[in-house]
Amino acid sequence: MLLLRIRSLALSAYLLGDGMAVTLRYMFTKPVTLQYPHEMKRLPERTRGTLVLYADIERMKCKCTVCMVCEVVCPNNSIHIDFERDTVNKKKVLTKYYWDADKCIYCGLCVEGCGFDALGWVPEFEISTTDRRKLVWDEKDMMQAWLTSIGRKDIDAKRVDNKWY
Ligand code: SF4
Ligand code: SF4
Repeated sequence: MLLLRIRSLALSAYLLGDGMAVTLRYMFTKPVTLQYPHEMKRLPERTRGTLVLYADIERMKCKCTVCMVCEVVCPNNSIHIDFERDTVNKKKVLTKYYWDADKCIYCGLCVEGCGFDALGWVPEFEISTTDRRKLVWDEKDMMQAWLTSIGRKDIDAKRVDNKWY
């Protein structure tokens, strides 16, 4: 009986010491966690953070050719595009591009379907808001998000022409 108690006490002391050793080791190790939102890590470039529209900065033109593929492939109508025809050459001109982040399931089909390199993702993800209406972005919001992401906050997306040609 006494022997059993001694063994039990020895085992408890061993396990306690083992646990304390792990605690002590981690006390002097750099933590892998970040104190978000005070500390932030840039996520990998391919992260599906926010859907953006690209622009040709040299020509200051939106790259979207209004082919409508992204709107058609979107499984839940998160994208809506309005356009008009150029009175001279009859080409489609983007008048409004809407992306509803509230509905988007981030499947990426729209980006994969875009054959004009006009649509993509940026890793920024902090777009939460208490007003759901603010989750509907237009083409200027999307282009501005891209410009900000590449460090070109100096360019106002409102100055970018919606005509791709
Ligand atoms: S990521 Fe998917 S759900 Fe979101 S807009 Fe694109 S196609 Fe639609
Ligand atoms: S973003 Fe791409 S797929 Fe969508 S309408 Fe424009 S060119 Fe077409």
